[in-house]
Amino acid sequence: MAAALKHWRTTLERVEKFVSPIYFTDYNLRGRLYRDSCPVAALSSFLTPERLSYQQAVQQDFRSVQVGDHFGPTWWTCWFRVELTIPEAWVGQEVHLRWESNGEGLVWRDGEPVQGLTTEGEKTSYVLTDRLGEGDPRSLTLYVEVACSGLLGAGKGSMIAAPDPEKTFQVSRAELAVFHRDVYKLLVDLELLLGIAKGLGEDNQRSFQALYTANQMVNVCDPAQPETFPVAQALASRFFGQRGGESQHTIHAIGHCHIDTAWLWPFKETVRKCARSWVTAVQLMEQNPSFIFACSQAQQLEWVKNHYPGLYTRLQECACRGQFVPVGGTWVEMDGNLPSGEAMVRQFLQGQNFFLQEFGKMCSEFWLPDTFGYSAQLPQIMRGCGISRFLTQKLSWNLVNTFPHHTFFWEGLDGSRVLAHFPPGDSYGMQGSVKEVLKTVTNNRDKGRTNHSAFLFGFGDGGGGPTQTMLDRLERLCNTDGLPRVQLSSPGRLFSELESDAGQLCTWVGELFLELHNGTYTTHAQIKKGNRDCERILHDVELLSSLALARSTQFLYPAVQLQYLWRLLLLNQFHDVVPGSCIQLVVEDAMSHYEDIRSHGNGLLSAAAAALCAGEPGPEGLLVVNTLPWKRTEVLALPKPGGAHTLALVTVPSMGYAPAPAPTCQQPLLPQQPVFVVQETDGSVTLDNGILRVRLDPTGRLTSLVLVASGREAIAEGAVGNQFVLFDDVPLFWDAWDVMDYHLETRKLVLGQPGTLAVGTEGGLRGSAWFLLQLSPNSRLSQEVVLDVGCPYVRFHTEVHWQETHKFLKVEFPARVRSPQATYEIQFGHLQRPTHYNTSWDWARFEVWAHRWMDLSECGFGLALLNDCKYGASVRGNVLSLSLLRAPKAPDATADMGRHEFTYALMPHKGSFQDAGVIRAAYSLNFPLLALPAPGPAPAAAWSAFSLSTPAVVLETVKQAEANPLSRTLVLRLYEAHGSHVDCWLHTSLPVQEAVLCDLLEKRDPAGHLPLRDNRLKLSFSPFQVQSLLLVLQPPLD
Ligand SMILES: [Zn+2]
Repeated sequence: MAAALKHWRTTLERVEKFVSPIYFTDYNLRGRLYRDSCPVAALSSFLTPERLSYQQAVQQDFRSVQVGDHFGPTWWTCWFRVELTIPEAWVGQEVHLRWESNGEGLVWRDGEPVQGLTTEGEKTSYVLTDRLGEGDPRSLTLYVEVACSGLLGAGKGSMIAAPDPEKTFQVSRAELAVFHRDVYKLLVDLELLLGIAKGLGEDNQRSFQALYTANQMVNVCDPAQPETFPVAQALASRFFGQRGGESQHTIHAIGHCHIDTAWLWPFKETVRKCARSWVTAVQLMEQNPSFIFACSQAQQLEWVKNHYPGLYTRLQECACRGQFVPVGGTWVEMDGNLPSGEAMVRQFLQGQNFFLQEFGKMCSEFWLPDTFGYSAQLPQIMRGCGISRFLTQKLSWNLVNTFPHHTFFWEGLDGSRVLAHFPPGDSYGMQGSVKEVLKTVTNNRDKGRTNHSAFLFGFGDGGGGPTQTMLDRLERLCNTDGLPRVQLSSPGRLFSELESDAGQLCTWVGELFLELHNGTYTTHAQIKKGNRDCERILHDVELLSSLALARSTQFLYPAVQLQYLWRLLLLNQFHDVVPGSCIQLVVEDAMSHYEDIRSHGNGLLSAAAAALCAGEPGPEGLLVVNTLPWKRTEVLALPKPGGAHTLALVTVPSMGYAPAPAPTCQQPLLPQQPVFVVQETDGSVTLDNGILRVRLDPTGRLTSLVLVASGREAIAEGAVGNQFVLFDDVPLFWDAWDVMDYHLETRKLVLGQPGTLAVGTEGGLRGSAWFLLQLSPNSRLSQEVVLDVGCPYVRFHTEVHWQETHKFLKVEFPARVRSPQATYEIQFGHLQRPTHYNTSWDWARFEVWAHRWMDLSECGFGLALLNDCKYGASVRGNVLSLSLLRAPKAPDATADMGRHEFTYALMPHKGSFQDAGVIRAAYSLNFPLLALPAPGPAPAAAWSAFSLSTPAVVLETVKQAEANPLSRTLVLRLYEAHGSHVDCWLHTSLPVQEAVLCDLLEKRDPAGHLPLRDNRLKLSFSPFQVQSLLLVLQPPLD
């Protein structure tokens, strides 16, 4: 037949109709995929609110059900017993169980999980036999465990809406069918050819070759005549066999399955999500020897180890073959902004040790594809944990600016560098389509610098993972002219290629700030408070337990309990938990986890304090403990018998203790000036401790804050501080996540009633004033403004009853300071961000995160704002603003409703914030002195374990070395906090036998021996450098 002119669109659509699952299925190729089918022999089910083990489930009473019956509600589980008999006539055929349901299913065969079945994840058939043999058994009983929730939970009406508790579920198909693999292969080819034709477009000749090949295949192929298929297949093979040139870009296709450890479903469901997803991946690995699957998050592996030991063994076997590749090195894929520096170290310490123990090696890539921004300290932390490679893609979500790289060196705060790669397809859930493969090449912003990219394929977020079809597509595209080369690969191979090619790569210095999801610094204030509290408790428990270990021969370091508590804290630093972007069920779990850490932690603190006291004579009563590495003199409320408290001014040496002053003794305040409190006739109150003079107007706003010695006013002229402001807070979609730039245009002052301000504590050791403020008809706030003797900052103890919808509460302090940049504390250091909106990069940071303090300074003077559990902040112009509470309604409709308690503090200072001691003040606010009951006589004299010769260095952590629970080796972690090169002497009163530097995983540095002279050792730091050392204690004397 003579060739004819062809119309592009009709030709394309002709092929589309030939493979369509919707149109012409009575006649087209798709309609021939499954031909013969028959119902299962018997279907029965058992419904339970519990997540039962297989052994428990199969003993229950199963009742007969029909396909199409409804079951539920949300979060329940329906177990199905599926009895089936394959017709004898199907001998020689490939037979599948076809199963479609809107709940997530897991097939169990002979007591073991064998495959996940989720319609959303395109897993709707289980292969019973790839060729039914003559004498094969044809009857079989399977169980299918169906969770009453989908891949992405059970949101009411929309994915991120709060879950619908009444949702019901259905199995819409359960049948046996003959699968025609020759039809399937043609479908895969035709879809790829269509993708190439569409993706390359009408300007490209290869596109026409693809389209005409597909058209010709349709011409020769008669769906009803399988004997016509090989000719069509040969046409496809000829096309795909036409090779590309040597310069082709190489795509490293890596199987992946992003499983949020908790998000729109509770932690317990994630345990099952892991099983469903990974058993499917294991099955694919066994059937496709070149398929490699990268898997992160030690916690999830530990869950599978405990709940599905058979599956875990298969995973370990796949790992031995190099097909299952543990990545990430962390306990969970944590939030990249909010966890403390020490907590980030522990993510790696717990994660890498787990991977080493379970899989024989540590991870060499940090893997965090889905986290809402990345701290500038991560490169140093990675390097200290044996990792020099980093993969994410989340910055592709930037709302304002396009990040300029996909492959680059990322340089952190201290100068540490890692090789960073963002898969240029901007996703971690690829399906293997031509469109995605082409985007990976065209979107790559480092063209010409590197010729390799990652391509992470598999359903993700709620699990699911890769499918056989994705693998078949990718293998077909291995090397075809007009397209990049595609190889099934591993993260290790990808990064090795990138490293060998790294000469031309650019460098990005500082944080990787995500220009989206900035509401997650504030949403769910109780989770944030729990996180900050528990970081403090574990710090204090480790320090006191270490000191007790060094001083008492009887004391057993609580290594096992601490590992358990740390892991619990790390779990809740997952990137949808600590950011507050999770459903109510997860919040309830998190709150109970924090309660666990608090109560266990406090028990461990008492035990360590008791061990410290033992054997020393002194008055019975209280031990006052300072867990920070500098001497502190502070006002402390000491418990009195009967539950009351009495204030005392106590001095406690650096990382040590002092006996509590006897309750009767009147302490001399000199040389300190007592606090004076004066209320004027107009209702305003002045608090003065000789360092600060604080003036509050009759509604509690700060009209003046003077540094007494210099007379310098810190509040901007004509302005007031401690001004509460409310904003309308309606994002575009991601409710709990996003606060948008336009919220700033809705700023409304909250004005109080004059006359509400009253004197609280009358002065002396402490002076205070308090007031009530109606924030709205439904929400109210009360605050006590407190000034202590000798204290360089004024504290604002705040309680809020919050009942709002889409409102954002902040407090503002306009400073009498001018600077184009403000400083914010981050992990193990601080960084500057602009106070202006000059460029799009500047204004995209209208809401940023900080840890315990932020500071606005000009030459010689500044104002710092400290906090004890907040993270959201901003400084615009001269106004420091702390973000306090939000009221999003999705995915948790109850988020942040109710009572909140938090403290912030204001510290004006002379000179730089470093010289003025802002960093120490912020630590003090967060680590109050502890008054711990001494069971016997408390020591009579004060004692210090460690001290440092410079305020530039912070001794952050003291803990027992991990290696051995009986070891008498301590780990100390210190960092340079000022941003300076500095030498530092560390003094210790502990009996140290040997001191040696180590990395963050506590591995000895062979060249790191530190000479000890007069109980002192010298360390040299560069700006923001973190150093760890091992102190081997002398053996006990008895
Ligand atoms: Zn995620």
